[in-house]
Amino acid sequence: MLWPKPLSKKIKRGVILSGLTSFKIGGPAEYFFEPQNFKELQQALVLCRRFRIPVHILGAGSNLLIADAGLKGLVIRLSNENFRKCSLKGDCIVAGSGIKLNALILFSREHNRSGLEFLAGIPGTLGGGLSGNAGAWGYSIGSLVARAGVLDYAGKFNILPKKRLVFGYRKSNLNKQIILWAELETRRAAKTEVSRNLKEVILKRKASQGDHLPNAGCVFKNPEQASAGKLIDACGLKGKARGKAVISCRHANFILNRGKAKSGDVLALMELMRKKVKDRFKLQLEPEIRIWK
Ligand SMILES: Cc1cc2nc3c(=O)[nH]c(=O)nc-3n(C[C@H](O)[C@H](O)[C@H](O)COP(=O)(O)OP(=O)(O)OC[C@H]3O[C@@H](n4cnc5c(N)ncnc54)[C@H](O)[C@@H]3O)c2cc1C
Repeated sequence: MLWPKPLSKKIKRGVILSGLTSFKIGGPAEYFFEPQNFKELQQALVLCRRFRIPVHILGAGSNLLIADAGLKGLVIRLSNENFRKCSLKGDCIVAGSGIKLNALILFSREHNRSGLEFLAGIPGTLGGGLSGNAGAWGYSIGSLVARAGVLDYAGKFNILPKKRLVFGYRKSNLNKQIILWAELETRRAAKTEVSRNLKEVILKRKASQGDHLPNAGCVFKNPEQASAGKLIDACGLKGKARGKAVISCRHANFILNRGKAKSGDVLALMELMRKKVKDRFKLQLEPEIRIWK
């Protein structure tokens, strides 16, 4: 593909994606683009549509397993500061989808706003969080969204009000759109209260997770009425390894990369976890991480 100017200078070839994911796994992107602004993003999408080039939107890569063989098409990362802006609008925080969740939480504390604290310690961007309705302990980000600004893959901009947004357990109807920004409902609170809430959440998280090797969080969603981690643990799979990938001994729903693990190693472990849980509990585990191949 010969990209027209000025995109031709900005779209790179063969960028290795492993360094852009928390798993540290993944081969090269055929094309890779970090648009500077909305117009550049829209231009690239229109071209991809015209030339049938697949588009992948990469956030912080903390919920992804990318194939070692790499990806065909254009990987777009909304890392430019134009996609990370944050401001207050009445009781809402309006934030660009490229902002990291932790930066968003700090902004909210700085401006005496509460409601986002349950997200503390969840890596990733607002865009990735909304796409998969990130959350913990029964709270999820989708419930806070008043409106979202999105682009479809043809480059058409839309503002979606709350009534057109559908969020479920680790899913949303935004996963077929490119999320540009969202308005998040918050409430006024003293900084000290927000700080106290954050401290509590971080302590709780440390007690249940805290693996230091690269990983992508929970690999499977919890089936109804059960914890995927407990089911996998009950199958005796903690510590099981394939190549350099190993099931965490601390949290059985985490797979850790203890060296140069291959995407195939992780997939083989996931298959093992799925099969054992199916055989023993007759429950089908569904991946929480997104698999790009
Ligand atoms: C140690 C650890 C702990 C974790 N704990 C939790 C937890 O408690 N709860 C939880 O919910 N998750 C958790 N996760 C998973 C992960 O942090 C979340 O899923 C996070 O929201 C992913 O955001 P991201 O920016 O990294 O998205 P990515 O991994 O980059 O992408 C995930 C998906 O979002 C899409 N996406 C990203 N940006 C956009 C955008 N702007 N528009 C449209 N689609 C987009 C991508 O295309 C992809 O399909 C954890 C992960 C790790 C590594």
